[in-house]
Amino acid sequence: MSRTVDRPLVGIIGGGQLGSMMADAARVLGFRVRVLDPYSHCPAKGASDELVTAAFDDAEAAARLARDCVAVTVDLEKVGLDALRAAAQHAPTRPSADVLEIVQDRIRQKEWLDSIEAPIAPWRAVRTSDDLDDALEALGNGVFVKAAFGGYDGRGQVRVRSASDVEDARTLVAHAPCVVEQPVDFVVELSVQVARRPSGETAVFAPALNHHANQILAWTLLPAPLPEAVADAAETLATRVADALGVEGLLTVEMFLLADGSLVVNELAPRPHNSFHTTLVAGPTSQFEQAMRAVTDLPLAEPEVWRPTVVANLLGDLWMGDEPFNIAAALQVPGVKVHLYGKTEARPARKMGHLTATGDTAAEALERADAALHALGGALAEPTLPDLSALSR
Ligand code: AMP
Repeated sequence: MSRTVDRPLVGIIGGGQLGSMMADAARVLGFRVRVLDPYSHCPAKGASDELVTAAFDDAEAAARLARDCVAVTVDLEKVGLDALRAAAQHAPTRPSADVLEIVQDRIRQKEWLDSIEAPIAPWRAVRTSDDLDDALEALGNGVFVKAAFGGYDGRGQVRVRSASDVEDARTLVAHAPCVVEQPVDFVVELSVQVARRPSGETAVFAPALNHHANQILAWTLLPAPLPEAVADAAETLATRVADALGVEGLLTVEMFLLADGSLVVNELAPRPHNSFHTTLVAGPTSQFEQAMRAVTDLPLAEPEVWRPTVVANLLGDLWMGDEPFNIAAALQVPGVKVHLYGKTEARPARKMGHLTATGDTAAEALERADAALHALGGALAEPTLPDLSALSR
């Protein structure tokens, strides 16, 4: 005797590495997965049951994706709001289009963060060259000029420290509305990830410590070695933001930690995040499983972390040299695993995969990540742990 197993369908808009790892997690939980992506060979292709090949603003395709799904989620912010609203006619979208509308536009996101009195760096919305001059005068030297839409990993951003930077910023502003932000003199960068079910139940991973190089995440450590009061404050702030937003699914809150122990919100992402890839090996439940639980309204997992874990991104630069990518050399380092995303074209700064390194201590995990990256012909940017023990609130 046999009986057909009912496998409910879940939809994911975006078939990049985040969509792919969400699809893996969803299938283990017993779901079939339908992915929408413009690229028919996207990383999620092998992890999904069905692929809808269409643009992220194609409302008809988004509706087709959502039909018969128990829920639809996203692996990126750059989804057309009309498309997400079309999907919502057929299945709950988590996050909702209202959440995405706030988050995908840096101007709207900052206005909203101001409206809930979340701490953010002084900033200005800039739409014209005159606005830019006013903002530069008001906010001083070293500002970050960021395109309101679509930029990521430092793309669509200019740091203004010289006259030629001002001209680059002017060119950026001529093409798109921007925000101009005062530089934050931070000690370290953190991120906190909140999983939130439709009922409002939440589970929060410990803060991650993030190290950026050239405005791209170079490495991240979970848990961040923070005094308990600072970790608690970061989790409380992230949960307050997620509750105020009413987000369903995940919300990752990137923050700056200042020398006086205070926190400043940098930006929000209503999806899995590069800074929590550590959760694939650091504890029993990954961010991807937690995302799928939240999105499909299943009980959330305890966000436990068993061992300090470092993730180092594997950028396309590692494939540009004369030597072939030597995965065996990296895997020789104890505690190290390599995750490649199935991308067939390497380009400088493109995220091709990541490696995880666990250790008995944070320092050991970091050393192992550095050793593995060296074995691959790279080097971990500034692989030292900050001493944050003196920080209090
Ligand atoms: P973003 O794309 O806004 O997350 O910026 C990428 C990275 O640039 C951040 O993670 C920081 O390392 C740096 N950055 C961005 N904005 C600021 C700021 N206002 N002050 C200091 N560093 C910043």
